Amino acid sequence: MANKIRIATTSLAGCFGCHMSFLDLDERLVALAELVEFNRSPITDIKHCGPCDIGLIEGGVCNAENVHVLREFRQNCKILVAVGACAINGGLPALRNSIPLEACLREAYLDGIGVENPHIPNDPELPLLLNQVHPIHEVVKIDYSLPGCPPSADVFWTRLPTLCGCVLEVFNGFIGRKRTEFGLRFGALRLRFWV
Ligand code: SF4
Repeated sequence: MANKIRIATTSLAGCFGCHMSFLDLDERLVALAELVEFNRSPITDIKHCGPCDIGLIEGGVCNAENVHVLREFRQNCKILVAVGACAINGGLPALRNSIPLEACLREAYLDGIGVENPHIPNDPELPLLLNQVHPIHEVVKIDYSLPGCPPSADVFWTRLPTLCGCVLEVFNGFIGRKRTEFGLRFGALRLRFWV
């Protein structure tokens, strides 16, 4: 299909649970694949976000690399969506905000139970931690949010086209193809931008 909608996704300070929930679309991913193509994403091998229609951001911002990646997505995505509680308000990782960063590092790498060879990692390859975990709207402009921890697959399925200014059309006649392997029947879907 020509002119597929380009989607990029990333996980910043997230747990990949939102991506797993997206994959819970299960058989619907087959129909989706006819309509969209994925740019940078954990499910592709593309290293940098290119020009895209939609960027889906899981996770808040906890380190310098998160900031860099988030800005890259903002520069390249027409529509940026905060996916899940972590992206929207920092989520569970933001619980560390009430504890000084140094105390967090000491507990994790020096004083914690079971720590061996205690030292705080300082390889320059490692991104520097921010003092606090931030929701992504504190770093870049966000267009839409999909709440939940994680948002359910049905939320992705029903809200994504609408949230992204697209029209979801179900063609009655297009051919609800029988997927015998699943014993299910699907109508075809078409997404079209309002332009
Ligand atoms: S919102 Fe929940 S599922 Fe999504 S990245 Fe955060 S903790 Fe994981």
